[in-house]
Amino acid sequence: MVIVLGIESTAHTFGVGIASDEGTIYANVNDTYTPPAGWGIHPREAAEHHVTVAPRVLEKALSQARMTMKDIDAIAFSQGPGLGPALRVGATVARALAVKYDKPLVPVHHGVAHIEIAKLVSGFVDPLVVLISGGHTMILAYSDGYYRVFGETLDITIGNCLDMFARHLGLSMPGVPKVEELARRGKNYIPMPYTVIGQDLSFSGLLTYALKLLKEGYPIEDVSLSLVETAYYMLAEVTERALAATKKSELLVTGGVARSKRLREIFGIIAEDFNVRLAFVTDEYAGDNGAMIAFTGALAYRCGIRIEVENSTIRQCWRIDTVPVPWVELIKRGDIKLKFVKKYS
Ligand code: AMP
Ligand code: MG
Repeated sequence: MVIVLGIESTAHTFGVGIASDEGTIYANVNDTYTPPAGWGIHPREAAEHHVTVAPRVLEKALSQARMTMKDIDAIAFSQGPGLGPALRVGATVARALAVKYDKPLVPVHHGVAHIEIAKLVSGFVDPLVVLISGGHTMILAYSDGYYRVFGETLDITIGNCLDMFARHLGLSMPGVPKVEELARRGKNYIPMPYTVIGQDLSFSGLLTYALKLLKEGYPIEDVSLSLVETAYYMLAEVTERALAATKKSELLVTGGVARSKRLREIFGIIAEDFNVRLAFVTDEYAGDNGAMIAFTGALAYRCGIRIEVENSTIRQCWRIDTVPVPWVELIKRGDIKLKFVKKYS
């Protein structure tokens, strides 16, 4: 068994987790930067936040796990994708720990980590994945060494779209649940641009149109309802087609937006129609968190993946379908056995 300390810092959250390659999570401590209402994440301000909280988060994670650095086999970090200044803080902390305590350094792709933690908690082994986090809107499935993309946004993510709409209304982050709340009070659906191109999606025109309707005086609740329903049904359409094409029997939804109440209803209908098992990542591991980096780092480290400090520059635009995930085959074959155990309170 290996135990890995993982550091997350791609965007709003600085997190430290500690996990084993058998599925035990020993610690998950996260501190999230919240911009003032009406504002988005300024990368420099997020980075300043991360620098400020890093020592305390690290200390808290070790004490939550009742461990010292002696118990840690390797240091994993979110190498990308994400906001440069924010990513650099996590990478710097990880490098410093690796050098000071003479531990191997393990690079982790943030999106892959969202998938692995959701697979761990759901017990799903080979699902069709809907990855809806701040930085990703993608449909994926594993094949031959990589997570392959079966549809993605061509511009902004679905979370971005609703967060930016929320910002224009002067609401604070996270925006998605607040726009959904407004949508629940909407009465009339206003037809919106519905942009599905093959298996790909586009949300920027939808956002522009929703903002135009607001300017024209349409009720906020009706515009919210129309925006949410249109965006979610676009995602539902490509998910259905991906299920039909891949014939997967498990549907797994992960990332920060997986907490959406309305999407849970919509994916429930899809799962029933396609007769597939459905799971959502649990709330604790939905948003960015250190535990998912630690756990994915542990799987990667077990497969011999590591990086030299001098080669460990961050990768702001790292595509998920270029990341080798050799552990997936080992898990499918039963050579790596996982059991989700949460060993902290
Ligand atoms: P992540 O980058 O994975 O932490 O995801 C961030 C996204 O999750 C943002 O777009 C948030 O608005 C969204 N989000 C946060 N909380 C919720 C929630 N309770 N329901 C739906 N979306 C949420
Ligand atoms: Mg994320």
